Amino acid sequence: MDLNIFELIITDTHTHLYSEAFEEDREVMIKRALDEGVSRFFIPAIDSTYTQSMLELEKSYPNNMFLMMGLHPTHVKENYLEELAHVEEMLNTHKFYAVGEIGIDLYWDKSTIEIQKKAFKYQIQLAKKLQLPIVIHCREAFDEIFEVLEGEKGEDLYGIFHCFTGNLEQAHKAISYNMKLGIGGVATFKNGKIDQFLCQIDLKHIVLETDSPYLAPVPYRGKRNESLYILKVLDKLSELYDQSVESIAEVTTQNSKDVFKV
Ligand SMILES: [Zn+2]
Repeated sequence: MDLNIFELIITDTHTHLYSEAFEEDREVMIKRALDEGVSRFFIPAIDSTYTQSMLELEKSYPNNMFLMMGLHPTHVKENYLEELAHVEEMLNTHKFYAVGEIGIDLYWDKSTIEIQKKAFKYQIQLAKKLQLPIVIHCREAFDEIFEVLEGEKGEDLYGIFHCFTGNLEQAHKAISYNMKLGIGGVATFKNGKIDQFLCQIDLKHIVLETDSPYLAPVPYRGKRNESLYILKVLDKLSELYDQSVESIAEVTTQNSKDVFKV
């Protein structure tokens, strides 16, 4: 019998466990993941309306939940200055493990591009000041994101490019800015493309995530995602890198520790 399996520590570096999608069965759903070794959950923020439920989650699972604070690019609207003030106040008064998720999203709304860029830059600077990593959300905005990162690059800039969906060149570029690549369900999609080149990227640059309740991996594609399904991503990476599930879990959990310092 392989005792190793009982020591597996799997890290979901990006999961919205406070989402309304889990209202009916949150505890059972989290237990399903915990029972299989998925025991570290990093919780990205969206906007101030979710802060309270994030704090409650942390209170219920103090050893498993690690919160981030930030304003999500699709929630950068007219009131963004107030929202940024909330982010800053929370960062100054509570322990968070990253500033995220932040970035640029031109899929949902291109009209807010200028304030999205401003909010992104501002939050990067907050992260640097507090010596925290950033967690980037990028949708149809690689050039814009790289432009901002180019202006902010340096030793004090580091973090995770969450739900990485770019090509090999963009992967190398993200890594050059001290970013790890957050790999999730998309790696299991037939047309996800990243499975074509992922093995050319050293595993030390990879962390695992679900982005639940979104982006469920095959065979759950299109359904509600949950942290347990990270096992499907793990299987896929084991296949792509031709390494055991145990070693992929170990390396990616260590990578998450290196980024989040916990
Ligand atoms: Zn997210």
